[in-house]
Amino acid sequence: MRHRLPPDQYATGILAGNRLLLSQAITLIESRRADDQVLAQQVLERILPNTGKSARIGITGVPGVGKSTFIESFGTYLTSQGHTLAVLTVDPTSQRSGGSLLGDKTRMETLSMNPNAYIRPSPAGDSLGGVAHRTRETMLLCEAAGFDIILVETVGVGQSETVVHGMVDFFLLLMLAGAGDELQGMKRGIMELADALAITKADGTNEAAANRARVEYQNALHLFPPTGTGWFPPVLTCSAVTADGITAIWQTIQAHQALTTQNGHRAHRRQEQQLSWFRSLLRQRLESRFYEQPGIRTQLSIIEEQVRTGTLLPAPAADRLLHYSSGNQ
Ligand code: GDP
Repeated sequence: MRHRLPPDQYATGILAGNRLLLSQAITLIESRRADDQVLAQQVLERILPNTGKSARIGITGVPGVGKSTFIESFGTYLTSQGHTLAVLTVDPTSQRSGGSLLGDKTRMETLSMNPNAYIRPSPAGDSLGGVAHRTRETMLLCEAAGFDIILVETVGVGQSETVVHGMVDFFLLLMLAGAGDELQGMKRGIMELADALAITKADGTNEAAANRARVEYQNALHLFPPTGTGWFPPVLTCSAVTADGITAIWQTIQAHQALTTQNGHRAHRRQEQQLSWFRSLLRQRLESRFYEQPGIRTQLSIIEEQVRTGTLLPAPAADRLLHYSSGNQ
């Protein structure tokens, strides 16, 4: 994208639901160029009053659990109910080159053809912190563009689940039947983050196993401490193939929205999320500002060598580097 427009033009276009301008503004957000970043912030400032009205839903689960198939089915159902949705992906391992949508387009073939759905994959080649920050800003643009539901999918590895949990109102964990070992393999911490669990692929010969898994997980969840929100995460089953259970998942999300809107937890969760977004951004900026200082890299490699060979302990080494940096200013 060589040609850039004035910020008002992006903002007006996005508010009018112009997909092309929306995509271009997201590209600005993802750009590393300083002038693009300034422009992106100007656009965000202008659309900010029109954000925050969408239902923000996170979807996670191990690779192969059926996330993209589920999103196809769930997304198609939502659009049939008159909703419009944006699907974003948080994938810090993504190697896709900027602008190439092929990877995810082919993963969600039906939905990508749906005029009421908008799919935008993860920005490529970024740190998890960077991806999270850009996805949050992208979410705001999508809200301003009028999508009333935002689905944020994780790749389900490492820390991306926690990061996505930190930007949504409702966090859905997809799981496979055949439980037992899975229950142990699955990080307990992720289950604790979930607002609902759904056992996927509950169809055909797998249906009975899915129902057994549902009971097992429900029992396991009972042992977790209460969330303090008045919400008790249910365990459901669903099939993306037969669409069984898809409606119930949406009803569950709506019930959660109604409860947390009424008791104030949704607003509270969003406020906390804003604050932690700010804090993590501040950390990222402080860190990059630190490393951008002239001479700091050279000094760092000298000090690291001393740490490596044991002539300097890590704590005084860190102090020495910080001392060098303050002498720099
Ligand atoms: P992801 O890696 O979590 O995105 O998983 P995919 O959506 O790519 O699904 C992994 C595999 O499971 C694919 O072969 C799907 O066809 C299959 N699958 C996904 N959902 C279902 C389902 O509801 N029922 C059945 N029988 N298979 C499914």
